[in-house]
Amino acid sequence: SNDLSGVVEADRAHVWHHLSQHAGYMAEENRTDPKIIVEGKGLRVWDQNGREHIDAVSGGVWTVNVGYGRESIANAVRDQLVKMNFFGGTMGSIPAAQFSERLISKMPGMSRVYYANSGSEANEKGFKMVRQIAHKRYGGKKHKILYRDRDYHGTTIAALSAGGQDERGAQYGPFTPGFVRVPHCLEYRAMDQGLGDLSGEAYGIACANAIEEIILREGPDTVGALCLEPVTAGGGVITPPEGYWPRVQEICKKYDILLHIDEVVCGMGRTGTWFGYQHYGVQPDIVTMAKGVASGYAAISCCVTTEAVFDMFKDDTSDHLNYFRDISTFGGCTAGPAAAMENMRILEDENLLENTTAMGSYMLEQLEELKGKHTCIGDVRGKGLFLGAELVADRETRAPLPEKLVAQVTGHCMAKDAVIIGMTNRSVPGFNNTLCFSPALIATKDDIDAII
Ligand code: PLP
Repeated sequence: SNDLSGVVEADRAHVWHHLSQHAGYMAEENRTDPKIIVEGKGLRVWDQNGREHIDAVSGGVWTVNVGYGRESIANAVRDQLVKMNFFGGTMGSIPAAQFSERLISKMPGMSRVYYANSGSEANEKGFKMVRQIAHKRYGGKKHKILYRDRDYHGTTIAALSAGGQDERGAQYGPFTPGFVRVPHCLEYRAMDQGLGDLSGEAYGIACANAIEEIILREGPDTVGALCLEPVTAGGGVITPPEGYWPRVQEICKKYDILLHIDEVVCGMGRTGTWFGYQHYGVQPDIVTMAKGVASGYAAISCCVTTEAVFDMFKDDTSDHLNYFRDISTFGGCTAGPAAAMENMRILEDENLLENTTAMGSYMLEQLEELKGKHTCIGDVRGKGLFLGAELVADRETRAPLPEKLVAQVTGHCMAKDAVIIGMTNRSVPGFNNTLCFSPALIATKDDIDAII
């Protein structure tokens, strides 16, 4: 009922939106209004015109895992802020200590939590650890970090240097040296890699073996880490084929390469386990997480390591450089872990991991059914409540549906049915073709039916 036209004009005049072409908002004719999200509850959000939307992507970027309007998280943050809002991370805080303990209890084999504010930063912390270990142990030689085609690790220059989505990086170079790309493992696109006659486990192992070939080409004594998303998010909701992860782990062990798993999207239950890697029986050395850690109620990210990694930063006290010389003013700022503690309590008490597995299977079935009805859906895939539908112009050739038409689908969902769905990033021409679904983990069958 409030007239928010002044807010819309202030936004139009002064806000620079993320990842947005503003020309439409500014046009003299056919001007569109920026969408202002005013309120949220559960899976639903309301815009400046009071229009209700179903949010099928948890805050647009796979973040609000426990849904909108959680007063208990707001209260936990409020109570903490009134008591102690901030002290730099060289000192401890009650919520940081308590959340770290609780988090580590969900991550067997892991032991230390380094706090930051965003996924990009958490990944940079991991990269810096790898680089410093290379200097401390290997005379700087074992410094290269492998990343995968179509994976994304963040927006900073170093994180973009490890970025497998070319559109995100275009025009922002030159990039940081020492990052090396390995092939993706999207079976539906195996033919584009010349691996079209392989499927399932054989394809998975071939993709992992391709990583080994690159390690051998670069020289194993120059490769410090391999950084991978457990299920690739913005690159097309890519679930790894059978056999892929165990072979990846084997290769890392063989060449003494640290395994850095980017759980920024998959972490905190998104795929039905606490962390995506836990589906695949692998043991990482470094795990980064952000989005779902506090479901967007506070900015928090974590770079979690094993005790063995941590030990390398305290094994020589005679060297004044031998500690992790990194700082982040707001990293671990008390609101973050206070929100994260309550977020985790909700995930547990409301059995949201179980719900994610059950509703994820249901939604995948519904997407399969849609695929049966519409030839433009070439492939549906995903894990838990993290699902994608790849759109094609032709099922035989698998030619991607042109980007404009994909945008028409998402635009139609928003305009006609008030459902907010996602679209993966362009990486190669015609790649912007996977619809993306990641509703809050509280989703019910009715919610999913409405989205479908
Ligand atoms: N890693 C992955 C897998 C992501 O999807 C993202 C963001 O979408 C990031 C890292 C970067 O996180 P942030 O935007 O919080 O810096």
